[in-house]
Amino acid sequence: MTKKHSQDNVDGEEGKKNSFDGQDPSLTSNEIIQLKLETKSVTILQQAIQEITNFSIKSMPKEAIGLLSGREIRPKELMITKGIYVTEGEEYSVSFSEDDFQVFDQLAGPEYCVGWWHSHPGFGLFLSQTDITTHIFSFQIVHRLSVALVVDPIAVGIDGIAKHKFFQVVGDSQNNSFRYVELASYLDKSSE
Ligand SMILES: [Zn+2]
Repeated sequence: MTKKHSQDNVDGEEGKKNSFDGQDPSLTSNEIIQLKLETKSVTILQQAIQEITNFSIKSMPKEAIGLLSGREIRPKELMITKGIYVTEGEEYSVSFSEDDFQVFDQLAGPEYCVGWWHSHPGFGLFLSQTDITTHIFSFQIVHRLSVALVVDPIAVGIDGIAKHKFFQVVGDSQNNSFRYVELASYLDKSSE
């Protein structure tokens, strides 16, 4: 599957959708995609969000992007233990390449890819239309609990952690009603 995340404009009005030319052959263009809220809450280790903050600051003013490693600790409740840095993009765009996903081949044990993260340096915590498309096709239809984390490395608190939000996408392709929903999230200050 081609993973693309590009033209992430501030106003989200890039005016065109990504083409997922290498998309899952089981999905035809006529297939109706229905997504509902699957993940109830997300807990992230302080160390993980700290690392993601640091990666995002280092990439400024460009966006940084990466993957989230974790597991389902209770039904519909995710624990994220690690943010993996993948690449940086442009000031308002960033993209995954096919090879970027191979980092997960290196993961051992019970952890797996529970979503992705990227930074919006100074332009707010939300998912653009492109982000929504990326999240649906590369993550949420692959694993229903997948979440998207957006961080703002310009807005760093006194604890050294960037302001951040977790999202999932709900809606269906028939009405083209996809939208993002913010999830409840918690910080775990223990070290694992
Ligand atoms: Zn974005």
